[in-house]
Amino acid sequence: MHIIISKKTGFCQGVKRALDLAINEATKSEEPVYTFGPLVHNSQVISYLEDLGIESIDRVDDVPAGSHIIIRSHGIGPNDLREITSHNFEIIDGTCGKVITVQTFAKDLDEKGYSLIILGEPEHPEVRAIREYVNDKALVLSSLDEIVEPLYEQIPEKIGLVCQTTLSLEFFNAAVKKIRMQIPHIEVHNTICGATRRRQQEAREVAKLVDLMFVIGSPVSSNTSKLAELCGEITMVKRIETQDDLDENWFESRMKIGVTAGASTPDWIIMRVIKKLMEISRSIDGDVEIENADNYITSAD
Ligand code: SF4
Repeated sequence: MHIIISKKTGFCQGVKRALDLAINEATKSEEPVYTFGPLVHNSQVISYLEDLGIESIDRVDDVPAGSHIIIRSHGIGPNDLREITSHNFEIIDGTCGKVITVQTFAKDLDEKGYSLIILGEPEHPEVRAIREYVNDKALVLSSLDEIVEPLYEQIPEKIGLVCQTTLSLEFFNAAVKKIRMQIPHIEVHNTICGATRRRQQEAREVAKLVDLMFVIGSPVSSNTSKLAELCGEITMVKRIETQDDLDENWFESRMKIGVTAGASTPDWIIMRVIKKLMEISRSIDGDVEIENADNYITSAD
């Protein structure tokens, strides 16, 4: 078998920073360390943090004074922020800079009297936080089917749009095009983060080369779902969480296999999946050819 590994796999900068902050706190702090909500959408990483004594909490009622609380890369809304800063805690802000940019656009638009549309998943913590910044007044759209006519009984004079950082560019473009048919004057901010855009583009390039594409990540990870969706438009996709999900019946002799992973998937899981794929390849073909996608992808940046 021939295995091609996508260039951008595993932790993005934002997730890595939040994780580094958490590990650093756990190592140096004598006070209990918590994350406000799960730090990332990946159960292996959450277990790893629990082993370091870092617990995830949704409320601060029972948290002892003096505790250190880490805000995850998805960020939190102003109500939760007010709640945790009103106690005697040390707050460590792991909110990703790209997420802060979306929150800032949303706040600015709201302050200037714009009505806001958010493209994204309504219950995703990042979107929930953005909604909170505009007092829950935003219209959240997560699929093209939701863009029906009329979106508003009376179309607002000033209307702006932002999106979840991990949205697919295809969906963003299609949704904006459809919305503009009703609201040509809408002010649009494409807030998909560069790391997501590059990862999606590179995964798509690899998918074009292979018979079967593996997308590694948690079932609850939004950016992993988007990767699987995009690759699935091109080739056969198997979405797996760890190497234990691999099934030898999926493979055929001399098959071309692609590998990508979501932004919250740790390197150690990716390495274990690749190792198992190599073992399977050797058992079927007696050998394995493995390379990263650098040879194929030049256009993603
Ligand atoms: S996916 Fe993008 S916005 Fe989200 S944490 Fe990573 S770098 Fe930041």
